[in-house]
Amino acid sequence: MKDHDLAQRIAAQDRRALARGITLVESGRADHRAAAAALLAALPQDRQALRIGLSGTPGVGKSTFIESFGMMLIGMGLRVAVLAVDPSSTRSGGSILGDKTRMDRLSREAGAFIRPSPSQTHLGGVARRTREAVRLCEGAGFDVVLIETVGVGQSETVVAQMSDVFLLLLAPAGGDELQGVKRGIMEMADLIVVNKADGDLKTTATRTCADYAGALRLLRKRDQDPDGFPKAMMVSAAQEKGLDDVWTALSELAEWRRAQGFWDRTRADQARYWFHEDVRQRLLAQLEAPAARAALATLSDAVAAGEKDPAAAAQAFVAQLGDLSD
Ligand code: GDP
Repeated sequence: MKDHDLAQRIAAQDRRALARGITLVESGRADHRAAAAALLAALPQDRQALRIGLSGTPGVGKSTFIESFGMMLIGMGLRVAVLAVDPSSTRSGGSILGDKTRMDRLSREAGAFIRPSPSQTHLGGVARRTREAVRLCEGAGFDVVLIETVGVGQSETVVAQMSDVFLLLLAPAGGDELQGVKRGIMEMADLIVVNKADGDLKTTATRTCADYAGALRLLRKRDQDPDGFPKAMMVSAAQEKGLDDVWTALSELAEWRRAQGFWDRTRADQARYWFHEDVRQRLLAQLEAPAARAALATLSDAVAAGEKDPAAAAQAFVAQLGDLSD
């Protein structure tokens, strides 16, 4: 199938074409990378989804939340795509969305599309592929793209780099554990959502929510926030309570950012970031070409033997890198 046909089918909301497009952007093969770039360029550029980044440690209820929240959005007539950035996923291991039993109801909905994290050990690779999958979902006319990640460090940063709004999901916990959330991650959040505010956990959830609201007030005010944001709220994903408030808050925030110009500015900064990232990745890939590796080995021997100066050798090598990696 021609790239152009694939782009048209994706634009016409053909889910199999979308899945195929994502497989293409996930491939590391040089010819696939070129085809993926052409596909992304051929997509409608005027469609924008609300991209929601969602992070939380394992067990806080991410999949329960996404399922309930996603079903609510479907009920409102919106189309919802769910993607993931899982830094721990490898080709053999399971990924956070790999388990088919997760999001059982949502996965059966015609208006929903769920895709597990691309498998790779290197976070940069997973991130780039997911970012391109987000673009494909937008091209396919999804209204909301949820990008899930596990709260274990670096992956929040890359998810924030591809999201319009960022949501941190937490479980009810004693005051001591407030310190467990890294300041950097708190600073990234637009909304802190304390889940499991039901049954015996409700009291603790209320206290946790108040603690985080207090902590958020101590953070430096960011330009891209209207009054009242970032905000802490509580939900019960299992009992489907408070989810409409989360949607109202996210919509209000997104509206305000659009009106104030922050939405476009953030997306422009993100595009710049991913462009630089892609250039870097492509240059690194060039280093891996057999001819480049051979030349590098020869030159490093010459440098080690004192026959060539390191700076001059590096200059000569970089100058011919394009030819070596063809
Ligand atoms: P994930 O690892 O973050 O995706 O978490 P899961 O969605 O798999 O949920 C982890 C556990 O928490 C499961 O046993 C869920 O049933 C439970 N859970 C999720 N949401 C809620 C909730 O709103 N209330 C309560 N009480 N339990 C919940």
